[in-house]
Amino acid sequence: MKHHRGIELVRDHRQIDPEEGIGHIRFRDLAEWEIIGARCGKCGYSNWLDRWKLANKYGADAPIADLRPHLRCGKCGNRDGNGLRLGAINRNA
Ligand SMILES: [Zn+2]
Repeated sequence: MKHHRGIELVRDHRQIDPEEGIGHIRFRDLAEWEIIGARCGKCGYSNWLDRWKLANKYGADAPIADLRPHLRCGKCGNRDGNGLRLGAINRNA
């Protein structure tokens, strides 16, 4: 799996869940070094989101699942079945 330099996936039970597994997590629950990724359900394209900007937009108490209906693939434009995942900023990079 390719991802941006300096970012690695969180290796715990919250790492990936295309449906509700991480959707209940609120922006305020995220650690400083955790970031939110989105993955296209159609073509597999994935991207990292600006969680701080999104927290401002949706509110710190909003569950990150609130993003799901708004996700749009940057490659194919798909809006259906897109998943969320968490990543960690690698501070040693
Ligand atoms: Zn796509």
